[in-house]
Amino acid sequence: MKDISLWHAVARNQRRRPTLDGALDVDLVIVGGGFSGLSTALHAAGKGLSVAVLEAEVVAWGATGRNAGFVVPNFAKKDPDDIVAQLGAERGERLINLACGSGDLVFELVRRHAIDCAADQSGWIQPAPTAQAFAKVQARARQWAARGRPAVILDRDAVKALTGAEGYAGGWMDRSGGVINPVEYARGLADAAEAQGARIFENTRVEGIGREADGYRLTTGSGSIRAGKVFVATNAYGGDLFPQLARTYFPLRVFQLATKPLPASVRRRLLPGNQCVSDTRRNLFTFRFDAANRLITGGMHIFSPGAERRVPRAIHRRLAEKLDLPEIPPIEYAWSGMAAVAPDFLPHLVELGPGMIAGFACNARGIAMTTVMGGVVADWAAGADPDSLPIPYAAPGSIPFHALLKHAPNALLPWSMLQDRLDESRAA
Ligand SMILES: Cc1cc2nc3c(=O)[nH]c(=O)nc-3n(C[C@H](O)[C@H](O)[C@H](O)COP(=O)(O)OP(=O)(O)OC[C@H]3O[C@@H](n4cnc5c(N)ncnc54)[C@H](O)[C@@H]3O)c2cc1C
Repeated sequence: MKDISLWHAVARNQRRRPTLDGALDVDLVIVGGGFSGLSTALHAAGKGLSVAVLEAEVVAWGATGRNAGFVVPNFAKKDPDDIVAQLGAERGERLINLACGSGDLVFELVRRHAIDCAADQSGWIQPAPTAQAFAKVQARARQWAARGRPAVILDRDAVKALTGAEGYAGGWMDRSGGVINPVEYARGLADAAEAQGARIFENTRVEGIGREADGYRLTTGSGSIRAGKVFVATNAYGGDLFPQLARTYFPLRVFQLATKPLPASVRRRLLPGNQCVSDTRRNLFTFRFDAANRLITGGMHIFSPGAERRVPRAIHRRLAEKLDLPEIPPIEYAWSGMAAVAPDFLPHLVELGPGMIAGFACNARGIAMTTVMGGVVADWAAGADPDSLPIPYAAPGSIPFHALLKHAPNALLPWSMLQDRLDESRAA
């Protein structure tokens, strides 16, 4: 078993960037070289702004290089009607429209910039284990279909035919979702941003940010940069740079694993159309294949000590059981990453000062949402009125009792698993 993400291990694009050395002056500086930072750099450079990205490690080092590569063009836990109820018709529909185009934008950027990242707009499937959950996803599919999305309802047989998995009551699919190798996608975005004039620096940790008359000065170990505007795209990896930011989200540690390649005979039974799958369970069950027929799945842990050894074994067992695999290949790669989850599961822009914002668009839908967020932040950097932006924009909030509650999503896992079991036994 190798302790790095599959995607980093198999990425063919291994291009490295220099460390910032000396002083620079730009219109927009971006802190963090994941999807959020890179998509923003690409969109802002495309608008003619001078842009620099400062990444503490290497491009795609954070959640961007550790996720499952599912492109999911909608929101976790929230359906369009919920969003309209929460944000009102005008703001709600703006955000929904943004999500509607998010999967298409990922695959369009891949095509436009010829990004070699095993991209396949094959669709994202959400199966439901019980009749009650199936009713809920049918309503979800109808709400997206009413907005012109390629959302289709799948009955029990269709779910089985598409996924190979037994025991689901039904489900739905958004055909505009799909799969990518996230490290190669991120590095392709970085190459495309540089081709438009953006500068990207690796091994360049921002250590301080100070206000100047017409902008900000950011200091790093061996340089400094002055910028009119700052976009903080550090997700759950921001550390102490902005302590007030860390109190706005729940940091969620998620594990992933990839098996050794499956034999072609088994591969034909599972996901013959190469979609990705995340079901409706609270303790989410997910799976997809990579281009070499490795089976990829994920899961959470309850308590940290020993989790690196314990959790991959548990989710490997779950994979064998859920997909009825008597001879499941051993784990080849196991890794984990941090996701930033907002209390309302929606993307947010957080105002940190005049001309300085942070952006969070994860909530397990990070690939598509961070990609479209890049265009929104580029509009902001070019002078758009924050009130006109489709992503909610506000001063940092603070989750009450955050020091205690930040562990809740992991600590409540046994409760979620129990609820799943009760739902399924009631439905049986
Ligand atoms: C295990 C896992 C599985 C997931 N699966 C999926 C999935 O299948 N589909 C999906 O859509 N989403 C998924 N997500 C969510 C998705 O990966 C994230 O939403 C997305 O990658 C966030 O990108 P980002 O650019 O905002 O942050 P990140 O990729 O986390 O990047 C933040 C960057 O900031 C840098 N940084 C931090 N501090 C500094 C500093 N002081 N100076 C300079 N740089 C700094 C870090 O080094 C890091 O590279 C998953 C997340 C996890 C953790």
